[in-house]
Amino acid sequence: MTDAEPFDLLLLGAGHAHLHVLEKLSALPRDERSRWLVALVTPHSVALYPNMLPGFVAGHYDADACTIGLHRLIEQSGVQLLSARAMDVDASARTVKVYGTQSGQADVRYRLLSVNTGGVIDRVQLENRIPGVTEHGHFLRPIESFFPLWQRIEAQIGDAERQLAVIGGGAAGVEMALAMRQRWPQCGVHLLTGGDPPLSDRPRRVQRKAQAVLERCRVVVHPMACTGLSATHFTLSDDTTHLCDVALIAVGSQAPRWLARSGLTLDGRGFLAVNVYQQSLSHPEVFAAGDIASRVDGAYPRSGTYAALAGGPLASNLVSALKGHTMTPYTPPPRTTGWLSCGDQRALVTWGPWHWEGPWAWRRKDKLDRAFVVRFR
Ligand SMILES: Cc1cc2nc3c(=O)[nH]c(=O)nc-3n(C[C@H](O)[C@H](O)[C@H](O)COP(=O)(O)OP(=O)(O)OC[C@H]3O[C@@H](n4cnc5c(N)ncnc54)[C@H](O)[C@@H]3O)c2cc1C
Repeated sequence: MTDAEPFDLLLLGAGHAHLHVLEKLSALPRDERSRWLVALVTPHSVALYPNMLPGFVAGHYDADACTIGLHRLIEQSGVQLLSARAMDVDASARTVKVYGTQSGQADVRYRLLSVNTGGVIDRVQLENRIPGVTEHGHFLRPIESFFPLWQRIEAQIGDAERQLAVIGGGAAGVEMALAMRQRWPQCGVHLLTGGDPPLSDRPRRVQRKAQAVLERCRVVVHPMACTGLSATHFTLSDDTTHLCDVALIAVGSQAPRWLARSGLTLDGRGFLAVNVYQQSLSHPEVFAAGDIASRVDGAYPRSGTYAALAGGPLASNLVSALKGHTMTPYTPPPRTTGWLSCGDQRALVTWGPWHWEGPWAWRRKDKLDRAFVVRFR
């Protein structure tokens, strides 16, 4: 593919932001968008909506409800689908090495590149901190492997009285622990937070509320680091060992290793550094949004909400760049509404230090989440 014409715009990953880009391209007049050769590199023809997975675990949704099929959106946007995974970006050569199970390895050239491939759990790094985790842990990421992973967990637990652990005290870990409690009321559920209280990135008042919800739902919180995992136990930093049949790994995501080889300017944690146009600091023809990107003008949380919010401005700036027009700066909001499912058809809503909880919040969250999936279907 190296000798072929470069793509005018190459989109890597079908993350939240790129769904908006596809939607924006679909809305352009056909003769306008047909001037550009645009392709999407994605290993999967569906995108899972992570916000709804705790609801799936708790038994409120089936797999289909949490899944966005991409074919229609791709067809309507006139974008070429490359069913492959991006393995490497060479920013100076403006090429991406991709690997597809059908097509094998190829180098794809681009004029403009946009990256929205999300974060990864670096298993090698985690194994150094938690020996045994790669062998005995069930990893929440890559999210696309979630349904087969869940089938294995369900088969392992069945109706038995097991001890379940969730490693990771962020929003995903808290929601998963609460959902597992709902799904298996007969089991012990443990949440290992690494030393901080649950939701340590949120204000104190919200942390205390989350702790109260976890207590109400009989989730045992261990505010300690996990230092080892075996087939039957987890070990904590105080050297105590606890029975554990299933451990779900929900630690925060890191930057993929291929970014370090790309030649792109990264932030201190290895994420792709972008400016107010969601544009690389070192290579203006490269854009990024979502968990893989790091805005240099402020510390914004890595979340689906921020990824989705960046999608509209990213889409507009990509079209402006394609047309050679001036781009528009985008400032993410300093705070957004947080919606945490409590598993029992209640939800915890947060706005800065304020919080509310109840069944009404779950109904609202349910409506918003379903609307997101339907919008992009
Ligand atoms: C269980 C759970 C619940 C969550 N709940 C919430 C919530 O309620 N609210 C909230 O704001 N956030 C929530 N999050 C966090 C949120 O899911 C992430 O922050 C968000 O998904 C990041 O979006 P993104 O667009 O950066 O990438 P992602 O959504 O991670 O999408 C990346 C896409 O890129 C693809 N991809 C990956 N690598 C490659 C590659 N090399 N080549 C090509 N394609 C690739 C993937 O297949 C995927 O489709 C939750 C996370 C989890 C795990």
